[in-house]
Amino acid sequence: MGDVTTGHQLRLYNSLGRRMADFTPSADVVGLYSCGPTVYSFPHLGNMRPYVFADTLRRALRWKGLPVRHVTNITDVGHAVADSDTGEDKLEVAALRERRSVEEIAVLYTKAFFDDIAALNVLPADEYPRASAFVPQMIEFAARLEERGYTYLLPSGLYFDTSRSPGYGALAMMDVAGQREAARVEYVEGRRNKTDFALWRAEEPGVRRVMRWDSPWGWGAPGWHLECSVMSMALLGEHFDIHTGGVDHRELHHVNEIAQSEAYLGDGEPWVRFWLHNEFLLMNAAKIAKSAGGGPRLADLADAGYHPMAYRLFLLGGHYRSQLDFTTQAVDAAQATLRRLVTRVEPLRPLPEAGTFEAARALLADDEAGDRDKAAMAYLDQIDAAICADLATPKILAAVQEALRDPDISSEGLRVVVAAADALLGLRLADLDPRAIDRRRSLSDLDPAQVAAIERLIAERTNAREERDWYRADEIRAELDKLGVQVTDTPAGPAWELR
Ligand code: AMP
Ligand code: ZN
Repeated sequence: MGDVTTGHQLRLYNSLGRRMADFTPSADVVGLYSCGPTVYSFPHLGNMRPYVFADTLRRALRWKGLPVRHVTNITDVGHAVADSDTGEDKLEVAALRERRSVEEIAVLYTKAFFDDIAALNVLPADEYPRASAFVPQMIEFAARLEERGYTYLLPSGLYFDTSRSPGYGALAMMDVAGQREAARVEYVEGRRNKTDFALWRAEEPGVRRVMRWDSPWGWGAPGWHLECSVMSMALLGEHFDIHTGGVDHRELHHVNEIAQSEAYLGDGEPWVRFWLHNEFLLMNAAKIAKSAGGGPRLADLADAGYHPMAYRLFLLGGHYRSQLDFTTQAVDAAQATLRRLVTRVEPLRPLPEAGTFEAARALLADDEAGDRDKAAMAYLDQIDAAICADLATPKILAAVQEALRDPDISSEGLRVVVAAADALLGLRLADLDPRAIDRRRSLSDLDPAQVAAIERLIAERTNAREERDWYRADEIRAELDKLGVQVTDTPAGPAWELR
């Protein structure tokens, strides 16, 4: 059991050093910065994972009684296609493609982002700075790096010399010799080290960018990495406690943020103490990427009858540092679990306020009978232990489900346990209407013989297709159709679901 009054010590997995560490704040308010969206297309389901993860972290800090100031940036300039240093900006490409202005593109997709995070019950950040509003500060930042001799100028822009940065790449644990031989590294004429990156991207001769600013290095636009260093320091102070993002950022974007920020500050201190990264959402075992043509969106799920909270529950059913496979079966299961949970919780409403461990524990201590509800206290301890063990949300889900089945818990105690779990999970157990969560025909409603019969038909269809017997293949598809089975051919083979 954890300490009766404060509970367990919060421990987080720090990507810096790749180890679990006790988290204790360095200031009265925990500064938390999350890399946000590049607003050039609709966010897909995978894009939502970092925000649900950061929200879980935020709820965990609140649970431990720690005030938080949370900043999430909106990248509306500076992110070149393929994360490269040269070439077109993602927003400019989108504007051309969609025949809209870059401002319209930014407004449209920023709204789509806010709609999705609101539907997922992500607590709003304190600030959502837009990169385009901080260009003068970015220029000042780069100028200071130049003054200190960390940069060199090429026709393509102002570059950060990573060989001047002693611990360069520590976050990525890169081996210096083979640094970033990866596909993402493009060839840049005159670049001194492969890892050097643009602080300022100069306009190519004869090309006039849509988004352009004048700078000591000529007309152009800031490099992508610069914005997060500048906006986080502007809004959270020079040093702050936690920086989050998708695991892809651990190898490049965050490495570069650290290098330039520590060079800028020059105080020998680590810039940010804790770096946390969420793993990817996989679909058919492939990473979903916006730049790879877009993946399914939250709105697509809603159209198919899934509640956004079912998607949140699906995400929380995996640990943030594990890859998650997005499958129809898994979301079906999440929807069924959500429905069962909400149906079971409905008679317990209204739920008390139990957003912090302190508050939840006090509610149990103040039990009218004067006798603490021991069963409830044990569940509360389990929940606290789980969140403190690097945000083990699957264990919290398990604990609340077990409590709901437990005959030995008082209904008062149960209400506290449910409220506490939901303060961390954010599934809206306090107010969701179970009738708003569709009962879907799901695979679990089928008996195994039916599933086997469907899979036999699909295999037969695959054979027919391989033998180029299109007539037979179509016949089987029609048969499957009658059974309400929809088959989609994917690179990994046919996938099916029930309509
Ligand atoms: P973007 O808007 O493209 O800059 O991406 C926003 C965030 O989504 C970044 O932090 C990425 O790391 C993250 N991300 C992109 N694809 C996925 C995915 N399939 N699963 C989890 N996170 C992702
Ligand atoms: Zn960032």
